[in-house]
Amino acid sequence: MRPPILYPLFAGIENIKGIGARAKSLLNKLCGEKVINLLWHLPYTVIDRTYSPQLINAQVGRICTVKVKIIEHIPPKSKHQPYRIICSDGTDDITLSFFKAYPESLQKNLSVGAEKIISGKLDAFNGSLQMNHPDYIGNPEDKDKIYGMEPIYPLTAGMSNKMMRRFAQNALSLVPDLPEWQDERFMKAQNFVGFKATLYGAHNPSALGDCGENSLYRRRLAYDELLANQLALAFVRQKIKKKSGRSLQGDNHLQNKVLAACPFQLTDSQQKVLTEIKTDMASPYRMLRLLQGDVGSGKTIVALLSMLNCVESGAQAAIMAPTEILAKQHLETIAPLCEACGVKVQLLIGKTKKKDRTRILQELQDGSINILIGTHALFTENVVFKDLGFIVVDEQHRFGVQQRLALSAKGNQPDILVMTATPIPRTLILTSYGDMEYSKIEKAPAGRKPTDTRVMPVSKIGNVVTALKRKIDQGVRAYWVCPLVEESEKTDLAAAEERFHTLQKIFGRDVGLIHGKMKEAEKDAVMTDFKTGKIKVLVATTVIEVGVNVPEATVMIIEQAERFGLAQLHQLRGRIKRGFEASTCILLYGFPLSETAHERLNIMRDSEDGFVIAEKDMELRGFGEILGNRQSGFETFHLADLSTDKDLMLTAHKDALFILDKDPKLETPRGQALKILLYLFEQDDAVKTYLAG
Ligand code: ADP
Ligand code: MG
Repeated sequence: MRPPILYPLFAGIENIKGIGARAKSLLNKLCGEKVINLLWHLPYTVIDRTYSPQLINAQVGRICTVKVKIIEHIPPKSKHQPYRIICSDGTDDITLSFFKAYPESLQKNLSVGAEKIISGKLDAFNGSLQMNHPDYIGNPEDKDKIYGMEPIYPLTAGMSNKMMRRFAQNALSLVPDLPEWQDERFMKAQNFVGFKATLYGAHNPSALGDCGENSLYRRRLAYDELLANQLALAFVRQKIKKKSGRSLQGDNHLQNKVLAACPFQLTDSQQKVLTEIKTDMASPYRMLRLLQGDVGSGKTIVALLSMLNCVESGAQAAIMAPTEILAKQHLETIAPLCEACGVKVQLLIGKTKKKDRTRILQELQDGSINILIGTHALFTENVVFKDLGFIVVDEQHRFGVQQRLALSAKGNQPDILVMTATPIPRTLILTSYGDMEYSKIEKAPAGRKPTDTRVMPVSKIGNVVTALKRKIDQGVRAYWVCPLVEESEKTDLAAAEERFHTLQKIFGRDVGLIHGKMKEAEKDAVMTDFKTGKIKVLVATTVIEVGVNVPEATVMIIEQAERFGLAQLHQLRGRIKRGFEASTCILLYGFPLSETAHERLNIMRDSEDGFVIAEKDMELRGFGEILGNRQSGFETFHLADLSTDKDLMLTAHKDALFILDKDPKLETPRGQALKILLYLFEQDDAVKTYLAG
């Protein structure tokens, strides 16, 4: 239950004085439903209205606030002229100009002889001072309301900054005195003030530095938010760890056979993560671990050995692939190795024939199948295992905390290993996978030749085709990647079908086409032809992004490369790094190409490290754009910004672990205050599920 002290902050936004039905609906869209949402809605800058010179000395171009007397009205002679009002502060004249004005209201509000406070940008026109549409016009007694620092809020049509300011001030009066949850010494070191004072300061900036990313006010709130996030995840993690799981301890007899049958030796990196995984599996607690490794870093063999470790200890294992093509690919890699050690593997996908399916389900239940390969979809169905002890999730899209928890409810308290090839920077790992243990394959197997990546304008396509022809004659196979399937989707995109036809004229039967709209069987047939070498150039859409292992393919041409995300380009290029031959990747771009787009392609040219690429792309484009916010499944924040608050993120992570260690039930005074913090950032679930009782 939310602590009553927070009720005023979680009341509907309409409880703020001055907010009626119309303002409510605008604000709901702009910042949210509750009072707290308006408080999180911070001004992004501040306008200094403290410059109040005598007009004779005033600097043109600055915002100034002065008291003037109205001298004369000059109505426009034509429609295109402004309505002008001459005023004076006793030292100089100033002309106020109003375009498309209502003369009656101007005459009424600015009657000759009256004294007014005006504020706005000072201009000069024909040697005399002028102000177009002053931002503020008020009576002398309103001076204090106008003069000073004016916070500027993100707005929406129908909502003025003036209204926003007033609502924010009224909302501030609803903020209760809350016990401090941050460590006193930490606050001192950061120059942070208390929560209430922070909110007050953020909405009443007295200098430019009080707004924006470096503002101490914003940073304190960001830290609060990050700490709440990290605490909640730390609780989930602790809970899972404490959940009794099972100790899966193999004796290596199957693993050794597979290693003997394998044409290569594990790298140190692979060995290291395998040890981490096996140690975790052996512990009597539930495992939830993320295995991260760039494309081609060799995650599959690690997954297989972990599964065998489970099989050795007498339980069944399963691996879930994101697509059927990938599931089949896993079968192809895994089956021969399993045969070498007498382990029974089966593939179960949507298309599996009824007869086979019945048999497989039976064999899963009686335990004669040791390893099952399938897609995510399968595991939502009622597949019953005799004793499922270990699940590998080969991840393509983000897999949320809730989904992970749901999965861990399957089988017999299974250990879970989530594999991802997406390079996720450390800060994001902490926020989105903070509930998981973490292993990373640092380095791909040695001996691979680097890919020669070139960035070229599409106008050079003729040369590219000539060079490709030469390569093909030497026995090389190549992918030709196009962004879209059909011309009709967007005429300016190089359509795969059209490219296929033009390349056919040069390569004849050596060229094939594969795209997402083809039937599975057709795709399979084309892929088989490409693998066997019947087809030498494969024109493809991004369906080849995942899966597909054709070691002979060492050339890739990507058209309109600028339209792809860097992570996607990196995945694509990973397809030609399967073998040990040198590979070539040509990134063709169209015109016009922006500066940033060019820089991004150059990053691809200069690096093959998925992490470096992701970090740089993020620097160029910012987190938001890359992750596409909510859809990506990554955590999003009200106040924190992972690209500027990395330091805070890391501190919050450490702080959360420290707190959990010292005060696991949040019972100390600081712990009590931290509970309030969790509710404040709507981590109610964490409190309810993990702190109750
Ligand atoms: P990913 O991490 O992208 O899933 P894979 O597991 O598919 O990578 O491995 C990529 C390629 O590297 C495969 O062809 C695999 O056989 C090979 N490979 C894996 N481990 C090693 C190793 N230690 N030495 C040499 N080649 C390896
Ligand atoms: Mg893989």
